[in-house]
Amino acid sequence: MLKIAVLSGKGGTGKTTISASLASIIHGCAYVDCDVEEPNGFLFLNPKLDCNEQVLVQVPQIDEQLCNGCGACVRICQFNALALVRGKVLVFPELCHHCGACSLVCEPKAITEIDRSIGNISWSSNSCFFQGRLNIGEPAGIPIIKRLKQEVSKKIDLKAAVFDCSPGASCSVVNSLEGCDYASIVTEPTPFGLHDLKIAVELVREMKIPAGVIINKSGDQDAIIDEYCLAENVPVSLRVPYSRKIAEHYARGILPVEDDEALAISLTELYHSIRGEVCS
Ligand code: SF4
Ligand code: SF4
Repeated sequence: MLKIAVLSGKGGTGKTTISASLASIIHGCAYVDCDVEEPNGFLFLNPKLDCNEQVLVQVPQIDEQLCNGCGACVRICQFNALALVRGKVLVFPELCHHCGACSLVCEPKAITEIDRSIGNISWSSNSCFFQGRLNIGEPAGIPIIKRLKQEVSKKIDLKAAVFDCSPGASCSVVNSLEGCDYASIVTEPTPFGLHDLKIAVELVREMKIPAGVIINKSGDQDAIIDEYCLAENVPVSLRVPYSRKIAEHYARGILPVEDDEALAISLTELYHSIRGEVCS
């Protein structure tokens, strides 16, 4: 399965529109929404999400009868998820990173690990669409992204998968990128676009993932991106011209490829060139 990540240094660059468009025109390709804090690919692809699963993590629970108040668990926790107050251990589950260290150091075995739901993954049984969703108030969606990617990997009939990453360069994006064969970085020809593009390029280089740049809202300001890409030897693989029609389609939840044949052809060519580059 060819795994293509689509990322952008910032939100609002058209990353979801492009990744959903790419997945929709390639036969046997899945769209995977890894933007678990705010998944919105479903608005464009209208999937039938007939499979669903809670994502559970394990957090400590203290047995007060067994706890002797030694504080070893509090000292070992790197994430301030435990506190000792008047001889009693308090647990802050939303800060816990599920490392299991506290239960290992508890000599009286006063700590057990219990399941806690932080969100869910859902997907269509035809394997075209996958998404993760983090519960409101939860700080970290990485276990959801990992579980989502596991589920996608099971679908051995898939020819390709497009992973729509969160905007930015956070741990969630790093986790979404892990194991991907190629990264398409979507940017806009503006100073802000360039600033965020540089961060995204540094990230994919650090992770040794081959990458190309897609300039969305391309026009007479492209030089700002072209000059950087030339200097850094990063290919510009696609330009999507600025179009009022695309913006109107976006507002109505319609993918631009639905009536833009030129864009559909360009995205198909992009897919084949990525496949050629990765598989050569
Ligand atoms: S390590 Fe175990 S016994 Fe010690 S404070 Fe923590 S829970 Fe209590
Ligand atoms: S499992 Fe790890 S992160 Fe969570 S409370 Fe225990 S030591 Fe802290």
